[in-house]
Amino acid sequence: MLAMTVSETPGRLEQVERDIPSPGAQEVLIRVRACGVCRTDLHVVDRELPGVRPGLVPGHEIVGTIERMGADVSGLSVGERVGVPWLGETCGSCPYCRMGAENLCDAPEFTGYTRNGGYAEYTLADSRYCFPLPDSYGDAEAAPLLCAGLIGYRSLRMAGDGNTLGIYGFGAAAHIVAQIATFEGRRIFAFTRPGDTAAQEFARRMGATWAGGSDEAPPAPLDAAIIFAAAGELVPAALGAVRKGGTVVCGGIHMSDIPAFPYRLLWGERCVRSVANLTRQDGVDFLALAPKVPVRTEVTEFPLVRANEALSALREGTLSGAAVLIP
Ligand SMILES: [Zn+2]
Ligand SMILES: [Zn+2]
Repeated sequence: MLAMTVSETPGRLEQVERDIPSPGAQEVLIRVRACGVCRTDLHVVDRELPGVRPGLVPGHEIVGTIERMGADVSGLSVGERVGVPWLGETCGSCPYCRMGAENLCDAPEFTGYTRNGGYAEYTLADSRYCFPLPDSYGDAEAAPLLCAGLIGYRSLRMAGDGNTLGIYGFGAAAHIVAQIATFEGRRIFAFTRPGDTAAQEFARRMGATWAGGSDEAPPAPLDAAIIFAAAGELVPAALGAVRKGGTVVCGGIHMSDIPAFPYRLLWGERCVRSVANLTRQDGVDFLALAPKVPVRTEVTEFPLVRANEALSALREGTLSGAAVLIP
């Protein structure tokens, strides 16, 4: 099979030929139909996350069909379409798993990070962490639901029930969150790189009632803000934009250092928190909600062999919505 793998040189993927892997007892062999490109993949390919090894296959927004199943797989069948998310496996026995916070598991496996992902023609996944996907989505359209959608959904829940929500960084996750929040009757204020009028236009098209640069003040104080951009300086900016008691949620796995800021920005019971990974329950809840909204994903398709171009487009911020690789 063909696979795009992390190379010795940070920043670029290498095209390789590999044997099609065989599923273990709890695993399924999946023929990849589409795999979304997430910002985390940039942090993997750039080896900004610890422990990334050359030869790794990135990709954790996998849509595919089951080709073969291990001996102990139950509840799935050959030919069935499934989605594979970032959460690849958890231990089931650590304090976090036992308290229902498997997203914080002490010994997790992550798809496309600690185990091979979907930038390939085939991949293996632990069957217990795959999701059935709503029929109303095509393969490419479903792919961004699996991380941008899921992490966006979890970030939105962590932001609370406030009516006015700021979103910093308007890419794949934001365009899904904006649709859910609008469906829930909330107002979205979108913050982009200063001067990025294309992204601001995209945000308005996705339901934002206001869109401007991250250096601008919103038209009203925010009840909460979600930061999807990996820029630490947005934390004090967002704290300055939320009302007393408001929450700032950092939705990314990696962020540049947060600059020092005056305590008065945090004062007034404002709160900063991160969102880490997902639970399987998040997946079940979000994938049931998405077709009801209905969440529509905007995707740009790239052939798998052009994965480097897709990463560059994401890096340069020239995409509207999500890039998806098609084997
Ligand atoms: Zn992701
Ligand atoms: Zn655990």
